[in-house]
Amino acid sequence: MSNADVVRVRIAPSPTGFFHIGNAKTALINWLYARKTGGTFILRLEDTDVERSKEEYAGVVFEALHWLGIDWDEGPGFGARAERGEYGPYRQSRRAETYHREAARLIEEGKAYKCFCTKEELEAAREQAAREKRPPRYSGKCRNLTSAEIAARGDAPYAIRFKVPEGVTEIHDLVQGTVRTENREFDDFVIVKPNGDAIFHLAVVVDDGLMKISHVIRGDDHLTNATRHVMLFKALGYPVPKFAHLPMVLDEHGKKYSKRLHGANVLDWREDGFLPEALVNYLVLLGWTPGDNRELFTREELIELFSLERLGQSAGKFDVKKLQWLNGQHLRRLSPEELRDRVLPLLEKAGLNVSAKSPEWLAHMAAICQEKIRTLNEIVDYTDFFFRDIETYEEKAVRKQWKSPGAGDRMRRVRALLDGTGAWTAETLRGVYEKEVAASGLSLGELVHPTRLALTGKSVGPGLFELAELLGKETCLARIDRAIQYIAKKGEVPA
Ligand code: GLU
Repeated sequence: MSNADVVRVRIAPSPTGFFHIGNAKTALINWLYARKTGGTFILRLEDTDVERSKEEYAGVVFEALHWLGIDWDEGPGFGARAERGEYGPYRQSRRAETYHREAARLIEEGKAYKCFCTKEELEAAREQAAREKRPPRYSGKCRNLTSAEIAARGDAPYAIRFKVPEGVTEIHDLVQGTVRTENREFDDFVIVKPNGDAIFHLAVVVDDGLMKISHVIRGDDHLTNATRHVMLFKALGYPVPKFAHLPMVLDEHGKKYSKRLHGANVLDWREDGFLPEALVNYLVLLGWTPGDNRELFTREELIELFSLERLGQSAGKFDVKKLQWLNGQHLRRLSPEELRDRVLPLLEKAGLNVSAKSPEWLAHMAAICQEKIRTLNEIVDYTDFFFRDIETYEEKAVRKQWKSPGAGDRMRRVRALLDGTGAWTAETLRGVYEKEVAASGLSLGELVHPTRLALTGKSVGPGLFELAELLGKETCLARIDRAIQYIAKKGEVPA
């Protein structure tokens, strides 16, 4: 690979306390491209909004990326306040001097100028334009001030404006195609405010230029900014990177996924018990198509198959059902041990005492739930009865299973069957139940459902024979006894 082919891509989120799924999608596409090509993935924080960009918010960005398994090669977040990479600092708040230096260079080269127009003057011009139903445009009043005129202003405050050159700017966007804009559609825009703050357009271009970014891959809400950016890249003498503006993530109604919606925050999905690999798989498919109908991908497969050519132009509506499906698929792909390790913190958080069980037992428990649960969080409902005695029975299930005539007799029969079972394995138990079905004329469900209610207090859960094996004979018998008493006390009358 020649130097010109070296891939350096970046994301530049503003740390405002929230890592949006749209940001996550952008991050993923950049990251996949870097990993695919052996390039460099850079994290840069656009933290110039000091009010909103608190240090702890940077932590939120790191946490979301860590959770998704997206690692970065250069940027902040390596230790307390440490950075990695040769092109730092990687926080805009620490790059003010660089922006000033580059803006001063533009002035020197006649590509930018000091604008002394006051707020009041600019406001009056805007109002005038509004009255005349014209778009507001800077008049260019300070464009051609002579050095004497400038000197005469003394230390009056000034903004720095970019002198928009004549001509046409073309962007060959890898997703959106060629975008051609007449430069005169733009007025001379401010690049440094009178208070010294660099405007986003200047900061982002200086950063991308000096950090030698090869591809700017970001949301298409920045497509209209890109023309200004290309003009600035050229004026500053930096190579113009390639651009790919990705469609936004839309909500299920097709509107831009609002920050206020649950799930807009990447970490909401963690909270809801989704696997990061499922969210990664899902978000990538929102912007990229593999070329066939396949939908299930591991991270490694995504890296292997990824190409910029297959980035999609149309925005993807968020489809929670599909994400749930993918989550189920990824859950089933974990080894029992992996699943165990992921659910243990959730069980502990739910107050269940898991410490008395061996790691092998817990992996077995995870395995028997693996085909059933759709999110990690469901594990608590599926397994809490292993860790505590049954205090209550699901009411609806009680009405259905235990209020019909003969319910008590049936449970006594179940008890006898279980008591007589020697080798306490799921297989033997299944055999015992099947034999009883054949002999009694009852359906398997008529035996299984009341037993499940007695052993777990619920109507849904892992397979009955599997859970019975794990509970152990003694506990099972004690729970059946308790059920028999319960039925006797409530009376066996039809509801
Ligand atoms: N801070 C911008 C955003 O989050 C990034 C702009 C860019 O990637 O150039 O949308």
